[in-house]
Amino acid sequence: MAPRTFRAPGRVNLIGEHTDYNDGFVMPAAINFSTWLTLFPLSENRIEIYSENFQEEVVFDFDNPQTARAKHWSDYAIGVIVMLLQDGCKLRGARLVIRGEVPLGAGLSSSAALEVVTAYALAAHSELNIENHELAKLCQKAEIEFVGARVGIMDQFVSLFGEANKALLLDCRSLEYKLLPLPTDANLVVCNTMVKHELAASAYNERRQQCEEGVRVLSGLLPTVKALRDVTPDQLETHRERLEEDVYRRCRHIVTENVRVLAAAEALEQGDLGRFGELMYESHRSLRDDFEVSCLELDCLVEQARCVEGVFGARMTGGGFGGCTVNLVARDSVEGFKHLVGDGYKKATGIVPEFYICEAVNGAEEVSNEEEQGGD
Ligand code: ADP
Ligand code: MG
Repeated sequence: MAPRTFRAPGRVNLIGEHTDYNDGFVMPAAINFSTWLTLFPLSENRIEIYSENFQEEVVFDFDNPQTARAKHWSDYAIGVIVMLLQDGCKLRGARLVIRGEVPLGAGLSSSAALEVVTAYALAAHSELNIENHELAKLCQKAEIEFVGARVGIMDQFVSLFGEANKALLLDCRSLEYKLLPLPTDANLVVCNTMVKHELAASAYNERRQQCEEGVRVLSGLLPTVKALRDVTPDQLETHRERLEEDVYRRCRHIVTENVRVLAAAEALEQGDLGRFGELMYESHRSLRDDFEVSCLELDCLVEQARCVEGVFGARMTGGGFGGCTVNLVARDSVEGFKHLVGDGYKKATGIVPEFYICEAVNGAEEVSNEEEQGGD
């Protein structure tokens, strides 16, 4: 049988940060950086996985299956295999050759792209007929239960459901979504600070606990509250005194961020990029001052961007404490933006940032071999 090639994209989140695990709204887009997978059918009872990025191979043997993570890049793919088997799926033997063009560990979700392309390819090869909603949940489960990272479903969801030139407004509670038009005369430009501060993991857990504490107190006062998603900014203000100052400010970020995501969706539908950009800046301010997950480098990139003509908005994207900013930049201004922000950031920090000029693309798919040769 002939080899088959599949692709699943990374993503950038335009607005809606830390709202996913509070049952709230997010607005990512799938981007033109994908993880590619070529599948060669095998008659043996195993799945071989080769990563060109790591130039390394691992083998999953159905007769002697790996059951625990190895703290290795292969955990993301093996996790997907283990979850498929746990669900009772019968998998056929295959060799998977993986080539990732999503920068690894930069906050553009190379991990979800790897999970999704693996799940998508194996489902097609073994004729499993699994619906995309189920695939997204299965990939999220692989990352939570096998890899051991407590992630939301946004990354896997948009890697499957994204569409060209569209942002995806996702309700993380119901998993209902809406595709929104992105402007054709502006680019999403992602800037990588090239730093990742140690604090990230412990702070993430602390923020989750503070959000849970907010829900515990507020649900005692407002019986309809199951998550911060159910709290309005007015309700939060009314009960402000009942919360510790830190918890109040964490909650204020989540509650106002949800309002901003919905306002940003309206702005996109009306083609109002000025308004959309203001909401991006406001989101950054809230993440910096209320949720306190920004850092000097992220703040510096946002301030540099603010001074450049043709920039509608900028904000940190991803968990924080390093990683990337996302910027909405008029197409004609992208080259100037790279120069000015690159120079300014280098002067301020001594670090040369990376830029990724992004377009929104379709979610996971099988590609014909000619397409694959052309690349992205
Ligand atoms: P992000 O998802 O933001 O890129 P993560 O730390 O969540 O960062 O995931 C990155 C990890 O995913 C890598 O360190 C590696 O283990 C795995 N990974 C992603 N893409 C590939 C690939 N093409 N080949 C092998 N492993 C990959
Ligand atoms: Mg990841």
